[in-house]
Amino acid sequence: MRGVVFDGKQARVVDDLEVRPPGPGEVLVAVAAAGLCHSDLSVIDGTIPFPVPVVLGHEGAGVVEAVGPGVTHVVPGDHVALSTLANCGACADCDRGRPTMCRKAIGSPGRPFSRDGNPLYQFASNSSFAERTVVKAVQAVRIPKDIPLTSAALMGCGVLTGVGAVLNRARVGRGETVVVIGTGGIGLNVLQGARIAGALTIVAVDTNPAKEEVARRFGATHFLTSADGVRDVLPTGADHVFECVGHTGLVRAAIDLLDRHGQAILLGMTAPKAEASFLPAAMFLDKSILGCRYGSSRPQRDIPLYAELYRSGRLLLDELVTATYPVEEFARAVEDAERGKVARGVLTF
Ligand SMILES: [Zn+2]
Ligand SMILES: [Zn+2]
Repeated sequence: MRGVVFDGKQARVVDDLEVRPPGPGEVLVAVAAAGLCHSDLSVIDGTIPFPVPVVLGHEGAGVVEAVGPGVTHVVPGDHVALSTLANCGACADCDRGRPTMCRKAIGSPGRPFSRDGNPLYQFASNSSFAERTVVKAVQAVRIPKDIPLTSAALMGCGVLTGVGAVLNRARVGRGETVVVIGTGGIGLNVLQGARIAGALTIVAVDTNPAKEEVARRFGATHFLTSADGVRDVLPTGADHVFECVGHTGLVRAAIDLLDRHGQAILLGMTAPKAEASFLPAAMFLDKSILGCRYGSSRPQRDIPLYAELYRSGRLLLDELVTATYPVEEFARAVEDAERGKVARGVLTF
């Protein structure tokens, strides 16, 4: 079968990939569509160290082909969106509704794939850039069949992370004020999360003025090309400021823009050793800085919720997909993503 393999030097499409059958508690999924996210590019450029050879891809949707012993929540033929969260379902963190904090969900990647008898690693417990992949039962979330799989493919990373950060982590309340710095794939989902939460003023900040139209479509009530102008819109600051770029200067800007009792939610990935500064004295006014992993999501609960919000027109998915590419054109998809030409490119099988 076809798939995108990174060997440590380059990522390329191969057609001799194999995947083992699903074991107990696992699901074999025929991937129909997979989103190309920056984290995949970060593996290729070394920002995210990962053992090789590895089959890339970490957000996708497809059709269940087979289930292993003990799997009852999906059957062959079901449509599923895939999460990257291979949480154990049995530890204290899983049990208290914090699967993103499950310690068993991180590290020790499996090797369900092979080429010519040699095993390949699975990226983010997912590897959606393959015609078929094997995931844990908790990662396969059933979705209604009327949702296009090219759109559902984006649920597993961008939507869970962005919308989840608003609803689960920040818990934005009706009538509150929100600033979103950076309107890429995550930022757009934060914008629509804020709209769904009922925020009154939603200020999008992006240095690229061409982003204004899409930002407004996803929920922005104001658009600025610099955070400097936010105080003109919100003189006392914002209740919630989301940093979606991963730039230490913008982390500082996010904290400086907080109103009393405001919170800065850090979603952008900075370099592992990067340091940011802030004024601790200002925090005295009940302010908070929040980290957030994967939208603090509970995928088996959140994905069906987002599916219903999509069907009722309140969550935009189709508009997130700016281009689709047959998997053979992976290189062109990467080029377009690197040039910032697309919000989200989707590979199809
Ligand atoms: Zn991603
Ligand atoms: Zn667990």
